[in-house]
Amino acid sequence: EKVYLNGKIVSVEDARISVFDRGFLFGDGIYEVMVQLENGIFHKKAHLDRLQENLIKIGIPYNVKEIDDQLETLLESSNLSNESCLIYMQVTRGVAPRKHSYPKGVPATVMMYALPYTLPPINPKHMKAILEPDFRWHRCDIKSISLLGNIMTNESAMEANTNEAALIRNGVITEGSHTNIFFVKNGTILTHPANEHILNGISRQIVFQLCKDLEIPVIEKPVAENEVIDMDEAFFTGTTTQVASIAQLGEHTFYGNDDVGKITRKLQEAFAELRMMDSTQ
Ligand code: PLP
Repeated sequence: EKVYLNGKIVSVEDARISVFDRGFLFGDGIYEVMVQLENGIFHKKAHLDRLQENLIKIGIPYNVKEIDDQLETLLESSNLSNESCLIYMQVTRGVAPRKHSYPKGVPATVMMYALPYTLPPINPKHMKAILEPDFRWHRCDIKSISLLGNIMTNESAMEANTNEAALIRNGVITEGSHTNIFFVKNGTILTHPANEHILNGISRQIVFQLCKDLEIPVIEKPVAENEVIDMDEAFFTGTTTQVASIAQLGEHTFYGNDDVGKITRKLQEAFAELRMMDSTQ
């Protein structure tokens, strides 16, 4: 198994970083996940653009062009050049004495790896999710490697034998622990606006484009916890989740558990078709 670390391809055993890396000490870094399908990396540009924007947001002076240039080498050395795989990338603020304030001019630590990974043809999963308080910070728009809040809420979902936790802040549903959430009411899609309380998912943005193509109206307005019972359908989105129908959310059951809502189904099909067509966008 190979890893890209600071300009070199090395084996996992030889991939070493300092204990003084700020990623290790503070979670001071940004990550990104994307998938390669049979016909290329799915929306690579959108993922690399988001990585660059996030690095700018937290002031890590690193140009992701280097990652872009090295991706093929990583895939080749991992024997995954034309294979379905998952690509993980992470950039941290580098190595420095442990202090909140950081010295300038320290090179970023850049790591990425690719693992074989196959997405199901169309996500058939009927997700069950719990509702949990969203106790994360107020910059959820940043794809930070510090994911303690996401991990803790996800763990609550696992302990409850469900697939995901939908998070509630100020009485409204923001997103999932590692997904965005959408609702359907009278043929219109409702989802939390892209502000500092959610991560603006690439899959979320793809769903917006698909809705435009399919002429499904979308309103970026959060759904309150007490409005869930009025919703017709609900689904999660994410790079590996794709469009996953929600069967149960908190106490509320959609569609008697095993049917997928009409609009959710339409979007799942359109998403699957998009994957076949233009994964390299
Ligand atoms: N929201 C959170 C908190 C996430 O961690 C993720 C993905 O990791 C998403 C949403 C979905 O983002 P994307 O569609 O870009 O994978």
